[in-house]
Amino acid sequence: MDKNTYIPENFIDDVQSYIPPHLALEDFISSCQKPLRLSIRVNTLKMSVAEFELEAQKIGWQISPIPWCPEGFWLTRSEEEEAALPIGNTALHLSGCIYVQEASSMLPPLALREEIQTIEGSEFAILDVAAAPGSKTSQLCALMDNRGLLVANEFSSSRLKVLAANMKRMGVSNCALSHFDGKIFGDYMFECFDHILLDAPCSGEGTVRKDPNALKNWSIESNVEIAEVQKSLIKSAFLALKPGGTLVYSTCTLTPLENQNVCKYLLEEFGDSVETISLENLFENAAHATTEQGYLHVWPQIFDSEGFFIAKFKKNASVTHENQQVKKGAFPFEAFSPKAQQTFNSYLKKHFKITELPGDLMQRDKELWLFPEHLEVLKDKIKYSRLGIKVGTIHKNGVRLEHELATAFGYLAKQNIHALTYTQAVDYFQGKDVRLDKPTSESGEVILTLCGAPVGLGKWQKGKIKNNLPRDLIAQGQLITWV
Ligand code: SAM
Repeated sequence: MDKNTYIPENFIDDVQSYIPPHLALEDFISSCQKPLRLSIRVNTLKMSVAEFELEAQKIGWQISPIPWCPEGFWLTRSEEEEAALPIGNTALHLSGCIYVQEASSMLPPLALREEIQTIEGSEFAILDVAAAPGSKTSQLCALMDNRGLLVANEFSSSRLKVLAANMKRMGVSNCALSHFDGKIFGDYMFECFDHILLDAPCSGEGTVRKDPNALKNWSIESNVEIAEVQKSLIKSAFLALKPGGTLVYSTCTLTPLENQNVCKYLLEEFGDSVETISLENLFENAAHATTEQGYLHVWPQIFDSEGFFIAKFKKNASVTHENQQVKKGAFPFEAFSPKAQQTFNSYLKKHFKITELPGDLMQRDKELWLFPEHLEVLKDKIKYSRLGIKVGTIHKNGVRLEHELATAFGYLAKQNIHALTYTQAVDYFQGKDVRLDKPTSESGEVILTLCGAPVGLGKWQKGKIKNNLPRDLIAQGQLITWV
């Protein structure tokens, strides 16, 4: 019980005015003072759930499945265990095989699971309007199995950097990052996306179990102010959605001002073109948290989680929008020449036995990038901060491979692979060369793996592997941090 959790009286009065009759205010307050259970999501781009369960058993992790997310698990770790080896420094985390993610925060992407998994092929695009640090982006990319295109947008530049680093660690290759106020999408990308997630900036009332000071600056006035931003974002998202597409709106806050009222605004604004899809059957017992409108209002005491709100809408018909905008300026990439592509592909084949990379190889000055499939139609609509993954740097004698090629496609390699021990992995993530037990006669580039998943690139040298981890990813102290 954390009695230091700050819960102001005026917040409690406000909650009292809208808490549903079947829930008790006292249970809500006491659950706000209880620490959160640690939960993780298996990143199926790097490891299957069955492999994770085996690995967890091997290392003695006590896990129990999260009922609404087949990839989600609660993990019981003692304070001593966490002090001796923080979860962020464990091999499973370093390798990108797991993402530390609160159980209820796994729900918004799950509300799109069926839509995503029933799309065949790669001709589709999804927008994540407010994406950093990327827990839901990486969950969406895993559901997409790196197919199609996911545009992940973030307004804060410092958080955009964390998002980019997380996508590299998780082996995501179908993502384009952008850096805008999310309210531009309706104007610049009108009816471009098959499905959209708007995990909106919010007052965070549901997060007090993680952050006892989350309510320090709470006021109704700020709820009202944030709700105005949310309304402009949800309107823009709906405009950017293709007819027939699905929009999921979520927040980690509880007040109807930022939840039901924002949904009401959407329904009023777009009339018959929008329809609410009930989430009552999203998982067994979802009905315990479903509102009369079919939204999930996850109070922390219902499933012993953070507080969350999730709503799902379908766009039934196209809408009119007069303020459509067109981006100016040239696209700074050109296709990698067929001859150079051939040389590059034959190197991958000869050295790693990698036969094919999905997507299009594009060149910008000396940089070689692999664009996600389905980007062509959307590439000129806005300016992107990153498009796909950087796979190499062009030199006069060929192409030097980049870290991301290994983290995203290293699993395709059949030779020149080295499985790191945990001690070698710690050295690697600290930017040191990897010492080998015995000298090697191998030469050239090598893909490094941890827990069976690719984590980066090195270069064979006699008694060691030279470290090629990009300088900006070298860890100080805690090996990998996240927010
Ligand atoms: N979806 C993220 C995840 O699962 O990791 C969490 C997103 S957080 C709830 C909301 C994000 O919206 C923050 O990173 C914030 O910087 C960003 N943001 C704030 N205002 C925005 C705006 N006008 N447009 C787009 N993003 C915005």
